[in-house]
Formats: sequence, structure tokens, C-alpha cells
Amino acid sequence: MNIPLFDLKVQYSTLDEELNNAVLHVLSTADYIMGNTLIEFEKRFSEYIKVNHSISVANGTDALVITLKALGIGPGDEVITSPFTFFATAESISAAGAKPVFADVEKDTFNIDATKIEEKITSYTKAIMPVHIFGQPADMDEILSLAKKYNLYVIEDACQAIGSEYKDKKIGTLGHAACFSFYPTKNLGCAGDGGMIVTNSEEVAVMAKALRNHGSGENGQKAYDLLTNISMEMPVDKGKQEYISNPSKYYNYLIGFNSRLDTIQAAILNVKLKYIDTWNDNRRYTAKFYNENIINENIVKPFEKDSRKHVYHMYILQSEERNRIVNYLNQKGISTGIYYPIPLHLQKAYKELGYSEGHMPNAEYLSQRTFAIPIYAELTENQKSYIVDCINNFK
Ligand SMILES: *Cc1c(COP(=O)(O)O)cnc(C)c1O
Repeated sequence: MNIPLFDLKVQYSTLDEELNNAVLHVLSTADYIMGNTLIEFEKRFSEYIKVNHSISVANGTDALVITLKALGIGPGDEVITSPFTFFATAESISAAGAKPVFADVEKDTFNIDATKIEEKITSYTKAIMPVHIFGQPADMDEILSLAKKYNLYVIEDACQAIGSEYKDKKIGTLGHAACFSFYPTKNLGCAGDGGMIVTNSEEVAVMAKALRNHGSGENGQKAYDLLTNISMEMPVDKGKQEYISNPSKYYNYLIGFNSRLDTIQAAILNVKLKYIDTWNDNRRYTAKFYNENIINENIVKPFEKDSRKHVYHMYILQSEERNRIVNYLNQKGISTGIYYPIPLHLQKAYKELGYSEGHMPNAEYLSQRTFAIPIYAELTENQKSYIVDCINNFK
């Protein structure tokens, strides 16, 4: 039996007509940039997360960079984050001109260890960026209380955590802002790249809307007024106008980016958003099945903390004999993934930060032991049983 780690084709086949119609509608209306469907998707996303503002952008990495810049974080500033995550988490901090500072993770949840953050705080620290890794929320109460004590921002890297909950609150509503990715293999994925910033802060929303679009037009002017404390003048463009032919787009108020989400991607996401809770429930159901049925003394199963809803973007096992079990599973037709083989503090790109082996013992330990097995929503009962049997038969 061949089981891939992700199966994007099988998801498409369950929704093909609905998705095709949504894409064709955008094509026929030629509403490609900041179209009505995109405005609608942002509105529905806000309703889903229960947040005041959703600002769509070109990808999850840009969401993080733009959020940092929207909060005024840049050169000379430090941001504390996890070393056990996708590179983009720290890369976004560097791209904003600031310095990533790593605090080690917990061995069981893979999330940043909140008890190791305080010792990293300096007079340069501006923010903490927890990552809800693999879909499990980080220790937000502890992180938020540290942030309050030291007057820091909290930016949630929620790229793997759409639909996750912490104490019955949706991830994305806890910090000052949160960032999501719609990369195709994420729990909610589009047909290419996409991302979203969410926030309850009017100021962050104004700045992010300006920054994603060359600091131009009405949003650029509002952001400029906010930064210069000028009372809001009437914007140049009033009311909804044809975006492409809007003359105010040539009035620029800030140095920003070209980082908009395509209307076609928004149309796809608008369809898929209806199914995200079902898909996440399926993932949780599969995780429960794995937790109950995988029994092998060479394997450590994932740990779910109390009062949080883990959406299992990845189902991560640990083994002292990772190479041997991964090869064995691949021979049985089961694809696996290694997240993450090199902790960020040891990446060549971060040589100049001066970390070396031994600085983040838990992240280093995990990077040698973790591997992912398939957990996508469309896995069949047969496939799941086959995966469990293979793992249990590994000696
Ligand atoms: C996917 C991901 C990102 C980046 O998102 P892109 O859309 O690929 O730019 C950032 N952080 C984490 C934790 C991710 O998993």
C-alpha cells in the first residue's frame, strides 16, 4: 500500500466542482487584484477566528514580516522565538531588520518553553513570537503574562494552527496579532501561496493594510496619519472604486511591499473554509486512533496538554532509531517527513548569531528523533490500520 505524507489530489477530487466554479467566476469577472471575493474571504475569516480584522497577504512569511513592521519592530530590536520551527519564523524577524533570540522548547510538546523566556529578555526585546507548532497551542497564559510584565508584543506564528484552541479561545485572538499560512499542505491550503494577518488592533490593521500594498492609497494615508499623529484627513479615494484603475494607488505614504493575496486564491479558500472544522476533526480523530493503537517500546507518541485543541497539522513520533524506522516505513510504502532536522540556531544562515551545539539541548535532541507520519483528513480506515500495524511490527 502506498500512502503519501500529504494527498492534495484526493482533497481536490472531493471538491472539484465547487472549486472549479469559484475559480471560473473570478476569471470571468477579471476581478483579480483585491476583488470582491477577497474582501468576502477576509470578512468570513474574521468571523471564523472571531477577531476584528483579517488582512490577507501573499504568504505566511510575509504575514510575519508585515506584522513585525506594522508593530514598529526593526533594526536594533530583539524578538524571542522558538528554535524548533520552520525557518520562516526566524527569517521574518531578520527580514524586518530585527534579531531573533531563541529560547529552547519543551521535549514533550515541541513548543517554546515559557520558563526559559524571561532569562532571554533584554532592554532590546520588543516581542515574543510563539509558534503553535504542529497545531498545538503554546503556553499562552505564561507568555502573555511575561509580555505584560515587560511591555512586549506577542505575535503568534499560527501558520500550522488554523482552528486550534487554547482554553476555548481560537488561536489568533490571544496575542496582539497572529499570522496564518495557506501554503498548499497546511490544514487550510490554497492552490499556491497565501497568508493572513489577524488582529483586534485597529492600528495594526491600518498599518498592515498599507504595508501589503506599497503604502499607497487610502490605507497608506491612514497609516501615515497614524504614524505622524495628523488627524485623519479625507482620503484621496472615497468609496469602492475599480482597483486596477484607481488613481490613488500612485500616492505613496510608506515604504511597503507588494504582498496581496490573489482573488483566485481567496475564492479557493472561501470554498475550503467551510470544511476546515470537519477536516481538523478528522485529523484529531486519526490522532486519537494512532495514540490508542500505536504500541511499540521504540516509539514515543505526541503529548497533548490539557485545555487546548490540537489540530494535528503534523502527527509527530520520536525514536532513538529514526533512520531505521523511517527506512522501514518507506519500504512499506508509507511516506514520512522529518520536522525539523536542523534547529534554527544551528542553521548556517544564522552562523553570525553565535550559537553552537549544546545551547538549545531540547531542540537539538528532538531534531535527531522526530518524524511525521501521514494524518491528512482523507486517510481511509484501511490506510490508518496499515500504518499502525507497520509501526507496531517494527523491531
Ligand atoms: C508554513 C510556515 C510559515 C511560512 O508560511 P509560508 O506561507 O510558507 O510563507 C511560517 N511559520 C511556520 C511555523 C510555518 O509552518
